Amino acid sequence: MQNALRIAKQDEEKETFRALSPTASFRRTFLVPRFMAKSPLEIPGPLGASRKSRWLAGFRRRSHPTLALLGELVPRVFDIVLSASLLVLLSPLLVMRAVWSHHQVGSVLTATRLVGRYQGFFRRLSFAGSGRFRDLAVWLNVFRGDMAVVGPRPMTAEEAAAVPVEDLVRFTVRPGLISPFRIRSRIGIAHQRESAMDRELVYSQTLKEDLGLAARSIVSGVLGGGGTPRETPPILNFFGIPVVNTTMNEAVDWVVAKAAGTEKKLLAFVNPDCLNIAWKDPDYRNILIEADRVLPDGIGVHIGCRMLGQALRANVNGTDLFPLLCEAAARERLPIYLFGARPGIAQAVAENMVKRFPGLRIAGARDGYYKPEQEEAVVDAINSSGARILLVAFGAPRQELWLGRWREKLVPSVSMGVGGLFDFYSGRIPRAPVWMREMGLEWGFRLMQEPGRMWRRYVIGNPLFLFRVWRQAKHPEKFKLPEGAERLAPAVPLESRNT
Ligand code: UDP
Repeated sequence: MQNALRIAKQDEEKETFRALSPTASFRRTFLVPRFMAKSPLEIPGPLGASRKSRWLAGFRRRSHPTLALLGELVPRVFDIVLSASLLVLLSPLLVMRAVWSHHQVGSVLTATRLVGRYQGFFRRLSFAGSGRFRDLAVWLNVFRGDMAVVGPRPMTAEEAAAVPVEDLVRFTVRPGLISPFRIRSRIGIAHQRESAMDRELVYSQTLKEDLGLAARSIVSGVLGGGGTPRETPPILNFFGIPVVNTTMNEAVDWVVAKAAGTEKKLLAFVNPDCLNIAWKDPDYRNILIEADRVLPDGIGVHIGCRMLGQALRANVNGTDLFPLLCEAAARERLPIYLFGARPGIAQAVAENMVKRFPGLRIAGARDGYYKPEQEEAVVDAINSSGARILLVAFGAPRQELWLGRWREKLVPSVSMGVGGLFDFYSGRIPRAPVWMREMGLEWGFRLMQEPGRMWRRYVIGNPLFLFRVWRQAKHPEKFKLPEGAERLAPAVPLESRNT
C-alpha cells in the first residue's frame, strides 16, 4: 500500500515536472491554439480548480510572458512620460536654476555615486551649489532610467553592503524617488527594517499601488514637513510635560532593560487627546511629569512638534510597540501581564501573541471591569503572577491614575498604560489599514468606527490641541519643563530619525 502510494506520488511529480518544463510552457504559450489548450495541471486556488474558470486559468498561464513584459514596460513608459512632461513644464525654472548654479560655483550639476538596479552604480544628479530646487535635476535620472518614480531608496555603497541576503531582491527594480520607507519615515512610523519594507514593495508593486504611493507621498510630505531640517531635541516639551523623542527600537530596548532590573518604572504614551486632558487634569498631569518615560503617539504630536520648530524622531505609539515588545520579551524570557478591556479580550490577546511569538510568557490576563472592592485582589493577582511587565488598558487618564495609585504596591518592574490596544490585538476592532496610517489618518479611521464616542476627541480635540501648541510656541516661557527633565533623555545617541 505504502509502495503504491509512493509510486502514484512519483508519477504525479513527473507529470507536474513535465507540465512545468520550458518546452511544455513554450508549446502551450505559442503553439497550441487557445481552444485546444487543455491544462494537464489542476492547480487549486485562484488559478483555476473550478471548471468554469478553467479557460481563464489557461488564458492567464499563456499570457504570463506577455504580462511579464507589460509589467516591465508599463511602469517605464509611465516614468518616461511623467519625467519628460515635468522636464518640459519646469524648463524655465530648470534653466534659471542651472544659471544660478553656474553663477554660484561654476558648474551646473553635481553627482552622487549611488547603488541602483542590479547593484550597479549610477550618478544621482542635483544642481550644484546651495539653495532651493537642487533636487529637481533628479528627474533627468528618472528620464534616463537610472531611477523610477516609485522604488526602493537608492543606497550608498556602505548601505547596500549591509542589506541582508533575504532582502537583496530590492536591487532587482530601479531605485525610486518614492518608497514606503520614505513615506513612513516622514510620518514617523518606519518601525521595520528599511530593506524589509523594500522587499515588500518589490513583491507587491503594481501601477495602481505606485499611484497610491505617489498620492500618499504628497500627503505625508505636507504633514511630515518634507525634508526641512529641524532641531531634534532628546526631550520634547508639550505644555510642560517632558516627552522623550526617541526611536521605536530604543524604546523597546529601554522597556526590556528596565523590566530585567529591580527598580520600578512607569511608562506612558501621549496623543493630543491625552495632552488635552493633562492640560486640565492636574492629577494626570503630575503622573505624566513624574513618569519615567512619556512617549509620543500619533500624527497630532508630530504636527505639534513642527509647530514648535522641532522634529519628531518617531511616532512611538503603544500599538506598534506591543508586538516588538512581545518579541523581545519572548527572547529575554520576561513575563507580561495583560490587564484591561472587556471580558475575554485580554485572554484573546494572550492567545494570539503566544501563537505569534512562541516562547512568550503571559503571566496573566484579566479584564478591566471589576468592582472597587476587588481592586486589592487584582493587584495581588498581578504581583503573585511573576510578571515583569504590566500593561494596563483602561484608556487615558484612568489607566495612568490607577497606576499612580498602586505604584508603590505593584511588583512588576515596568508598568504602562496602553489604551485601547487589546481591542486591536484581540481582533475585536480592526486597526486602520497601512495606507491610511501612511497618510497620518489613523485617527480618521477611529472616528469612522466609533463616531459617537470619538467625535469630541478628534473633531474638537485635535484643533484645540494645535491651538494650545500654537499658544505655547508664542509664549514658551509659560511652559517650562520641570527641573532635571534632561535625565530622561535616551542614553544612546540616536542619529537616525527612525528605526
Ligand atoms: N476599559 C476598561 N475598563 C473600564 C473602562 C474601559 O478596561 O472600566 C477599556 C475599554 O474596554 C477599552 C479601553 O479601556 O478597551 C479604552 O479604550 P480607548 O479606545 O478609550 O483607549 P485609547 O483611545 O485611549 O487608546
